[in-house]
Amino acid sequence: MDVKETQLQCPQYKKCGGCQLQRMSYVEQLHHKQLREIKLLGRFGHVEEIIGMENPFHYRNKVTAAFALDRRRKIVSGVYQSSSHRVVPIDSCMIEDETADAIIVDIRKMLPEFKIQIYDERNGTGWLRHVLVRRGFATGQVMVVLVAVSMLFKLQKPFLKKLLELHPEITTVVLNLNDRFGPVVLGNRDKVLFGNGYIEDLLCGHRFRISPSSFYQINPVQTEILYRTAVDFASLTGEETVLDAYCGIGTIGITACERAKQVIGVELNQEAVKDAIVNAKLNGIKNCWFTAGNAGMYMQRMAEDSMRPDVVFMDPPRAGSDQKFLTSLLKTAPSRIVYVSCNPETMARDLGILTEDGIYRVRKTQPVDMFPFTDHVETVVLLSQRKPDDYIRVDLDINELDKTPSGTKASYAEIKDYIKKNYGVNVTNLYIAQIKRKCGIIERENYNFPKNENNRVPVCPPEKEEIIKEALRHFKMIA
Ligand code: SAH
Repeated sequence: MDVKETQLQCPQYKKCGGCQLQRMSYVEQLHHKQLREIKLLGRFGHVEEIIGMENPFHYRNKVTAAFALDRRRKIVSGVYQSSSHRVVPIDSCMIEDETADAIIVDIRKMLPEFKIQIYDERNGTGWLRHVLVRRGFATGQVMVVLVAVSMLFKLQKPFLKKLLELHPEITTVVLNLNDRFGPVVLGNRDKVLFGNGYIEDLLCGHRFRISPSSFYQINPVQTEILYRTAVDFASLTGEETVLDAYCGIGTIGITACERAKQVIGVELNQEAVKDAIVNAKLNGIKNCWFTAGNAGMYMQRMAEDSMRPDVVFMDPPRAGSDQKFLTSLLKTAPSRIVYVSCNPETMARDLGILTEDGIYRVRKTQPVDMFPFTDHVETVVLLSQRKPDDYIRVDLDINELDKTPSGTKASYAEIKDYIKKNYGVNVTNLYIAQIKRKCGIIERENYNFPKNENNRVPVCPPEKEEIIKEALRHFKMIA
């Protein structure tokens, strides 16, 4: 049977809540996501057909397990039941990496032998909170992160010996300290117990180092498609200064930099920035710089310093971008903006802001299915500044319209020539018509007004208005 026609038959479907679309075949899911994208983003322009997966199973390269005791006080591992703190036992999952699932099951089985107690949030007893496993699909490297409430690990050596015997594919083991209350999985301190504390993976022909807390896309197969689409949309020629905002470990910037003059990446998570700097070095790249900080503040500073990137990639988290970033972005006026988003709702909100004043327009929208069986969907959008061709054609019968007070008439071509010669700037017929009308020269309107409300007529900027008025004075069309 074609995998695309299959449904998931997961016994934990209802309790887990992770695969919201599992009752649909994969083909139906893609259709469902396409309609949602059209509903949310269609008002900005045509939405291309969503790019799905050949094989939509076991695509997750990262698995996080929580632990609990069942009624018979046996340790179970799995995920939190949606919007609760009850653990739904899961040993294998159709969308998770199978190696990662097997490692988690074996760690759970090893816990009693090594006297490891699971942490109980209600009374603050025990030690182990979570286990996180990440696998580089292209390199085969595997990272295991034990998240615990203290750094004291009594039987560390024999535990590691047994774990590595069972799973020689593990390349690094890290102990992460999380002694804070709350749902966040990882704490701020890491201790490397085995290996080098990170894994590497290959994407779009580049090698990337990934630390435990750094963001890394969870579906590497589709990520290649996503990044290639984003870089394609940017139409780089090698001359551009590119900003990679919300850059994580630098993956988009590094994928794009061969076709750009230089890339600057900005990212909040310091560990991710360290990874990004190493990643540029690892790939022998010399035209990428990365900096730690808030993307909104960074963008604001760029706008204040009148810096103007040619292309901006932005890939914010699910909550989308913020007002500071978006208004500063508009001020820096890049030629092209490539917006990558895992949440079409916040993306639609942000695109509304970016296209509000009519300067930017959405040119392409490409959904990519990064999360089969869940209702999440990723989207790449290209925005660019409106070109003169985008403006509405204006048919003006100049001779019929012009009734100058003095009876003197200079043609539009003469006015344009005069302005070009004396001021070195080009003005459009539309701008001349607007100023003439403002000065009371044109008595009758003959604009072809836009057919729909999205098409706004550009308004002559003040500096050009002054120049046109001067020309009209020169031709004695106004006093
Ligand atoms: N482009 C990267 C990361 C995308 S995920 C990739 O494809 O892998 C979003 C990233 O934004 C995360 O790395 C997160 O740490 C970062 N982030 C969240 N809020 C931010 C902010 N205000 N300023 C800068 N980075 C931020």
